[in-house]
Amino acid sequence: MFSNTAVACTACAYCTRGCPKNIPIPQYFALYNNIMRTTGSFSSQAVYYNNLSLAHGKASDCIGCRQCERACPQHLPITDHLKAVAAKFEGGNNFPTISFTGITR
Ligand code: SF4
Ligand code: SF4
Repeated sequence: MFSNTAVACTACAYCTRGCPKNIPIPQYFALYNNIMRTTGSFSSQAVYYNNLSLAHGKASDCIGCRQCERACPQHLPITDHLKAVAAKFEGGNNFPTISFTGITR
């Protein structure tokens, strides 16, 4: 069965307990899934990501200790997914910029 949901996360948040980098894993996966569903159009998910990362660890801050993966009941490859999240949201071209004519990509 095909799905347009990129990460099969149930948002249980078991993974976040004990993360040494305080990475909001389920929130990042939700934003990632949302932006994957709106490919090709501007998404406010990038703004939400930026705001979340100001108070928490960024996806790229992951040190690969895999504490989260041992806690995940879905056995998700969280560290791999976080790399995809970082590439999507921290790639340098996903945040909107303000121009004199309005918000542009
Ligand atoms: S592998 Fe990364 S996200 Fe998972 S607990 Fe360690 S630092 Fe946090
Ligand atoms: S433990 Fe797994 S399923 Fe639960 S929120 Fe974390 S990544 Fe998602």
